Amino acid sequence: MKKFLIVKFLIIALSLYIILFKLTKPETIFYEPPNLGILKNNIKFYIESGQYEQDIQKVVDKAKNYIYNRTKDLPNQEREKLAVVFDIDETALSNLEYEYKYDFGYNYETWIEWVKEAKAKPIKPTLELYKYVKSLNIKTFFITGRTQLNENLNEDPTIINLKRAGYYLWEKVYFKPSNVKMTTVEYKTNCRKDIESKGYKIILNIGDQYSDLEGGYSQAVFKLPNPLYYIP
Ligand SMILES: [Mg+2]
Repeated sequence: MKKFLIVKFLIIALSLYIILFKLTKPETIFYEPPNLGILKNNIKFYIESGQYEQDIQKVVDKAKNYIYNRTKDLPNQEREKLAVVFDIDETALSNLEYEYKYDFGYNYETWIEWVKEAKAKPIKPTLELYKYVKSLNIKTFFITGRTQLNENLNEDPTIINLKRAGYYLWEKVYFKPSNVKMTTVEYKTNCRKDIESKGYKIILNIGDQYSDLEGGYSQAVFKLPNPLYYIP
C-alpha cells in the first residue's frame, strides 16, 4: 500500500512538472526575426489604408507652420535669401509603382529603367508645401542621391519627372556624381554647404531618410515616413 502511494505521488509530481515547466514554457532555442511575408502585408496595409499619406501630411503641416512663423515678419527681399531643401525620392516623388511592380525589391537596372520613364507621381503634401514655399518667394533646391542621366539638363528624366509632377522654378537640382566615393550624409551636407556659400540661409530641409537630414546647414529638419527602404 505504501509502495503504491509513493508511485502515485511520483506520477502526480511528474505530471505537474511537465505541465508547469514544459507546456507553459516552450523552449526558445533561436531568435526569430520579423517575418518578411507578414511585414510586406503590414506595409501594404499602411500604404493602402491611407495612413502613410496621412503621416506625411502631419509632418508637412508642421513644416508649413514652422515656415509661416519663421518668415511672417520678414519683408520680401529678406525671404528671397532664404532657402528650403527637398529630397526627391519618397519626399518629392513617389516610387510606389516601382516598389509594387518588383514586390519591394530593387536592382540597379530596373531602377534606371524606371527613372528614365519619368513617371513617378508627386507626393501631394510635399508638392503643396513646395507651392507654399514658392508663394513666399523663398528659394527651393533639390538634393538627390540620383545621378544625372543626361548631359542636357532639360532632357534629364529626373528634371522632366519633377516638372511633370508639378514642381517648378527651383534654383538647382544637385545630383550625386557617380564617380565620387562618399557617404550620403557627406554628399548631402556638402551640397547644403554649397547653397549657403552662395549667400542663402537654409531654413528647412525635408527628406524621408535620416541621412538626408544629418550634417547641419539647416535651421530645421523634417523627417517623412518611409516604410519601403533604408539609406544609411
Ligand atoms: Mg528620399
